[in-house]
This record gives sequence, C-alpha cells and structure tokens, in this order.
Amino acid sequence: MHATPHGWWLQDVGPVQPRPGLAGSVTADVVVIGGGYTGLWAAWHLLERAPGIRVALLESAVCGDGPSGRNGGFVDHLAHGAARLRALAGDDAARATVTASIGAVRAIGTWCEEQGVDAWFHPGGQIVASAAPAQDGAEDDAIAACAALGLGEELRPLTPVEVQARCASPVLRGGTLARSTATVHPARLARGLRIRLIERGAQVFERSAVRALRTTPDGVRAQTTAGSVSARAALLCLNAHSAGVGPLRRRLTVTSSHMVITEPVPDVLDQLGWTGGEAITDSRHLVHYFRTTRDGRIAFGWGGGRIVCGARLQPRDDVDAGLARQVAADLVRFFPALRGRRIEHAWGGPIDASPRHLPVVDTLPGGRVHAAFGYTGNGVGPSHLCGAILARLALDERDGLTALPLVSPGGRLLPPEPLRVMGGEAIRVALNRKERAEEAGRRPGRVVSAVAALPRLMGVEIGR
Ligand SMILES: Cc1cc2nc3c(=O)[nH]c(=O)nc-3n(C[C@H](O)[C@H](O)[C@H](O)COP(=O)(O)OP(=O)(O)OC[C@H]3O[C@@H](n4cnc5c(N)ncnc54)[C@H](O)[C@@H]3O)c2cc1C
Repeated sequence: MHATPHGWWLQDVGPVQPRPGLAGSVTADVVVIGGGYTGLWAAWHLLERAPGIRVALLESAVCGDGPSGRNGGFVDHLAHGAARLRALAGDDAARATVTASIGAVRAIGTWCEEQGVDAWFHPGGQIVASAAPAQDGAEDDAIAACAALGLGEELRPLTPVEVQARCASPVLRGGTLARSTATVHPARLARGLRIRLIERGAQVFERSAVRALRTTPDGVRAQTTAGSVSARAALLCLNAHSAGVGPLRRRLTVTSSHMVITEPVPDVLDQLGWTGGEAITDSRHLVHYFRTTRDGRIAFGWGGGRIVCGARLQPRDDVDAGLARQVAADLVRFFPALRGRRIEHAWGGPIDASPRHLPVVDTLPGGRVHAAFGYTGNGVGPSHLCGAILARLALDERDGLTALPLVSPGGRLLPPEPLRVMGGEAIRVALNRKERAEEAGRRPGRVVSAVAALPRLMGVEIGR
C-alpha cells in the first residue's frame, strides 16, 4: 500500500507545471486566498458576474493539491441537515438552503458539461445505510424534515432488501436514498477548474503562501514573501487553515479523514451488484464512506482521524500508517471479497469541522474580508454555493443566497486550544469506541457513552 499526502486521484491526473509565484506588487479588484474548490469557484463566479473584473488568486501549493484534489468525490448537498436547518432558521430559510445546495450539485454537473471538463461527474445518488442496530433510523429526522419542507422526494427510506440490491455488503442494513447526490473524480474537477480559470484570465499565483493580510484605506493587501496584492476585497478560502486566522480560530475544529483505494476489482463489484455508481456511507458519526470509480475500483474512507491543532497544521498529518491500516481493515469488513486483493494507495487530509455541522460564510471585522469554511467533510458540492455567496459579498451584492442562514450565522465560540484539542480528542476516542462496540453487537461502557454524548449536550454536531 503506497501512502502519500496527495493520494491516488492526484497521482491519476499526473503532475502539472505550477504557475509562477507572486513577485512584486500587483493590483486586483478581488484577491482570493486559497486555490481549493472554494477559492476556484469564488473566482469563477466573480468572472461570471462581473466580466472584466481583475481576480488574483494566491495558492500556497498548487491549486487543488489540498483536500479538494484528494477527497472521496461525494458531491453532496444539505438535505441531510434539513432538521437542523429548520430548528436553527425556520422552514423558509431551511427550504431555501437545501434547495440551493441541491442546485449546486446540478450546477457542477452542468459546468463540467459546458466546459468540456471530464471530471467523471455521475449523478448516481447516495445511500446512507445503517451498519449496526444503533444506526437504524439515523436519517429519520432528515427524511421527515425534507417532507415537511416539500422536498420529500430528495430523501427516501430504503429497506434492507433494497440496499442489498444496490450493494450486497454483509454489513449494510436498511438506509436512505439521497437521489440528488453525485460523484466526481475530485482531482479532475479541481485541475479542470484551475485550467478554465487561467484561460478565462484570472491571475493565478502558485507556491505563493499569504503571510499577512492587512486592511488599507482602499481595501486590503495580501502579502507573500516575494510580493503583495492590493485589492478592494479579499476572500479567505482556506478550509482547515482557517484555524490559523485569528478571528476564525475558535469557529472550527480541525480533524482529519483518511482513505484507501483498491486495484480495479470489477468482478467484486459485479458480485456485489454495485454497478450503479452509488455513493454510500454508513450512519456512524465518525462515518465510513465508499464509492466506485470509472475503472472499477473501490475508494473507501473514514472520517475518524485525529483532532489536529489547527494553527500548526502540517502536511505530515495527512499520512498516518496506523489510520491507513485501520481504514484498510474496515474496507475488508464491509467487503470480505476484497481479502487478498491489492489496496494500492492510502492518504488523508484535514477537515474543517464547524460546531453546527454546516458551512459558514462570514465577513471579518472591517467588512473587506469574507471567508468560507466549516464544511465538516462535505465541501465538494457546498463549495460551489459558498463560492457564489463569496463572489456576491466581494461585489457588494445582496440577494437570496447572501440571505441564507449559512451567512454570518453567529453562535457560540469553541473553547480555546489546547483545551479544544484535548477535549476533542477524548470525545473522538470515546465516539469511536462506542460505535465500534455497537458494530460488534456489544454494549458500549457507561463512561464511553457519557463522553461520546458530550458534544450533543454542548450543542455541537459531530460527524455525519
Ligand atoms: C480524505 C478526505 C475525504 C473527503 N471526502 C469528501 C467527500 O467525499 N465529499 C465532500 O463533499 N467532501 C469531502 N471532503 C472534504 C472536502 O475535500 C473539502 O470540504 C473541500 O475540498 C473544501 O474545499 P476548500 O477549497 O475550502 O479547501 P481546500 O481544498 O483545503 O483548499 C484550501 C487551499 O488553501 C491553501 N492555503 C492554505 N493556507 C494558505 C495561505 N496562507 N496562502 C495561500 N493559500 C493557502 C491550501 O494549500 C489549499 O489548497 C474530504 C476531505 C478529505 C481530507
């Protein structure tokens, strides 16, 4: 098993020549900081809404080398959070948010088609399955909330027989079908966006880490070691690295997610009847997620990685031999027919977990800097939506999207570090023990259950 921070998808698309780094002083209308999906979509939406606008994008590595180029490729929406959204913001706002997020999934598919980017976009839907009695009915609240919002067709229950007909894993029980979820090849999407943006005239500077961002009388100045960009507004699209930004530090917890991918196993997929390209998750809080690829592989991940000190995020956090072994063992538990088959690659990456388990778009004090973060491991679809919102904020435009409850949501701050890391890690370990005991048919211990329940009591959503 080959382990690299960048993972199989980026290896599959091959290396690219980095764009020249920033040198000297550049003036733009908007400076976008971070070249993952959020920054790339924000830049794209800016160019669409204001043709001729000068957009400079600063990326510390190569655009798409972060989680955007190495995720599971589930292009998900916010229907699973419908109950939470109703409670937080009421029915109209919840409906608008879920609908906009489903629109984002479709818009990504349309964009790929129109731009001739073959990102393997496949609208095969998602099965959220139970993998233990304790997980049964995990989506019931979301199904009821979608029905109450008039979006009942988005989530529908599946019997165990219906789940088995789509994927005959011995671990899977009943579940829910989310019809609008799609999958992509994440690196093909990220690299495709990067190329189309460059062709469209965005100034993309790579290997250009921003060291300081200051407000000036006319706007903002983003400083790298070799140059600076002055602009009217800045968009912070940093994902987990947002935890290194003072005003955002206590708005997210940084954890990690880890994946493996098999050699092509079309025979196993046939045996499982898993030929519809459905994305599948179990219903754990520390979720397992799995999907097939166009060339017949199974990509399998687990959202149960470590809690990381956000301000000290390092690339080495993305490869962890122990976690890779755990994920590989979980893969074989779900698919025993893979025993003896080759697992080709293992990798991981940071996750920007927000306490409400919903993405956040916010404006920093001073009004010139806007940020999007907190996707909690579900940013592939929502980053298109958040990019659209960021573009409007940078252009000083307000409409239905900027009124969504994802925007400037307020809410309590998380405890400071190191408390957050220590407490978060204790809760993660307890949740993992609890969920593994439940899968094995054992009753979790009382202390473990009590610690695992702490986030809910504190109003913090974890995982799934
Ligand atoms: C293993 C794994 C599996 C996942 N699976 C899924 C999935 O199946 N579906 C899903 O929806 N989501 C998934 N996610 C989450 C998803 O990848 C993210 O939510 C999404 O990519 C976020 O995009 P982004 O642009 O905000 O962040 P990123 O892709 O992290 O981009 C942020 C960029 O900012 C750059 N940067 C950081 N600091 C600076 C600086 N100082 N100056 C300039 N640039 C800087 C980074 O280099 C990076 O390229 C997964 C994540 C991981 C790690």
